[in-house]
Amino acid sequence: MQAGRRTHPPSSSSCGSLVSLFEDVLAETPRARVELDLTRLPVRVAGRVMNELCNHALESQPEECCGLVTGTAEVRFLRTHRCRNEMTARHQQDPTTHPRTGTEAFLMNEADYLRAQLDAEAAGEHVTAVYHSHVGAGVYFSEMDQAFVNSPLFPFPEASHIVLSVWEHSVSGAGVFERDLASGTFAGALIEVGEE
Ligand SMILES: [Zn+2]
Repeated sequence: MQAGRRTHPPSSSSCGSLVSLFEDVLAETPRARVELDLTRLPVRVAGRVMNELCNHALESQPEECCGLVTGTAEVRFLRTHRCRNEMTARHQQDPTTHPRTGTEAFLMNEADYLRAQLDAEAAGEHVTAVYHSHVGAGVYFSEMDQAFVNSPLFPFPEASHIVLSVWEHSVSGAGVFERDLASGTFAGALIEVGEE
């Protein structure tokens, strides 16, 4: 999700959806976007995994892609699981509650992420990261991203977040944003592409 100006008043909807909830959270607790911290140690991600993430980001443009990465205690980022981005469909159904389309926000299809989670658990893995792309914007963890993942309904509060930047039909950068357990705030590190 990209940083953006709110274009509608705080929702009084009783819909209770994740989106309207995080829009309300955003209204109440504005945060600055989290930029990459170049002083942090880069996080290693296998080239195979990065290729899969980049391919998904490029195939999805001009929309944001999204999905999960699962892994084990030994290999943190082992497998990618694509999820459909539902934000454009939600916007078309109800543009007042969902003012953004998939070009500037993401909402993982629930069936897709539940299936990925079950598949991972059957293989002895767990969800280690949620990934999404920014199209025509840089690598940062936006105010919306933070509001989204801090909402009580977000399904993977422990996960890290991989953000990819797509500029002019290529992936120009990527980073991993992790929550500091003591402060609850996020910090971002560059990705170091490694071997398997
Ligand atoms: Zn984002």
